[in-house]
Amino acid sequence: MEPSVSGGALVASNLSYVQPTESSAWGTFLAQVDRVTPFLGHLERWAETLRRPKRTLIVDVPIELDNGEFAHFEGYRVQHSLSRGPGKGGVRYHPDVTLEEVMALAAWMTVKNAAVNLPYGGAKGGIRLDPRKLSLKELERATRRYTSEIGVIIGPLQDIPAPDVNTDAQVMAWMMDTYSMNVGSSSPGVVTGKPIHLGGSLGRVKATGRGVFVMGCAAMRRLNMPVAGARIAVQGFGNVGSTVAELFAQAGAKIVAVQDSRGAVFNAQGLKISELAAHVAGHHGVADFSGGESMAREEFWDVGCDVLIPAALEGQIDVFRANRLKARLVLEGANGPTLPQADDVLESRGVVVLPDVICNAGGVTVSYFEWVQDFASFYWTEEQINQRLDKIVLDALDQIWEVSQKRRISLRTAAFVVGCERILTAHEERGLYP
Ligand code: GLU
Repeated sequence: MEPSVSGGALVASNLSYVQPTESSAWGTFLAQVDRVTPFLGHLERWAETLRRPKRTLIVDVPIELDNGEFAHFEGYRVQHSLSRGPGKGGVRYHPDVTLEEVMALAAWMTVKNAAVNLPYGGAKGGIRLDPRKLSLKELERATRRYTSEIGVIIGPLQDIPAPDVNTDAQVMAWMMDTYSMNVGSSSPGVVTGKPIHLGGSLGRVKATGRGVFVMGCAAMRRLNMPVAGARIAVQGFGNVGSTVAELFAQAGAKIVAVQDSRGAVFNAQGLKISELAAHVAGHHGVADFSGGESMAREEFWDVGCDVLIPAALEGQIDVFRANRLKARLVLEGANGPTLPQADDVLESRGVVVLPDVICNAGGVTVSYFEWVQDFASFYWTEEQINQRLDKIVLDALDQIWEVSQKRRISLRTAAFVVGCERILTAHEERGLYP
């Protein structure tokens, strides 16, 4: 197949099995590694390992449809690094999922887990399917078959999947059950983000959004931006976008615009988030919400706001949009929403970007708590979870902010410095085997 060059020039591929472009997810990750490499000192000699996923698995996921026909889907699990501990990262169901995308998402998990100092490597998985086109039973069959197929490399001490785009606690329950049936004993620690009575953790559902909110408020304090009255625009109204919108609205900010895959809505006085959530539940998207004016999806990027929160998919902020944004602060709830060239534009315009690898780390942090609770079979209160979550992410933010100021680098490169130093130190200490 010819590599696509639509979103940018082809960049030199470092691997025979993918063809990244300047605007693709793996191309973006490689550019970010290029930017951190000069700051790694003696660890630079190990930096090539960041550019090579440790293990990539492609599986066929055949299922019987409700009408008796068969369908085949392509599934992936990539373990980017296992140097600091087991693989950890979500599973995504989306019609655009590719191996290259999953590689980048796995690599961002490695950096994220290290940047907030969780004892994990990084991994990610996905199935290339449109969940809206499958019944619940078909989705269950696809999930169970996928879990069996990747069962050769996952496990509570090997690699622990979790929810991501279009997967939730129900999907995790099916994964946990399938894995447990295959190994012959109940194995709650094989996935996180499970339902509470199957060993899930209180606070996990809202953890990613809560982390974005808590760190967002801390960043706003540093930038002398009051939260009360701040105008906020949110892209994506899934688990992360809806939670962060709700928390900022409760804190007195105005959610002036929300965009999702179906449309965009605007209200200068602030959208009523509980009403918007009820609308989205009934209509599968924000379009036609009566509590605001509808806009064309592209107009979202021109909205007057103080804070922009991309909480959807990667590659959303390109150079064109970066030049138009009005926000002073970007909080990356999504993974990989900003292209490297757009990062440069934002920096030159004085827009502060709190990067994904720290900004959305709240989810995996509470996943870590869930995993620890599963091993101990002893469960914490929501208050304990939230307190520990806040402490971990705020300490990480302080450290990364300091590195950014001291070394005069962006918060993204600073987060990569902190994360990659930990990853490559572990790699160096362990050495090569054999
Ligand atoms: N999918 C989430 C992320 O991108 C959470 C991963 C996890 O909890 O393992 O960070």
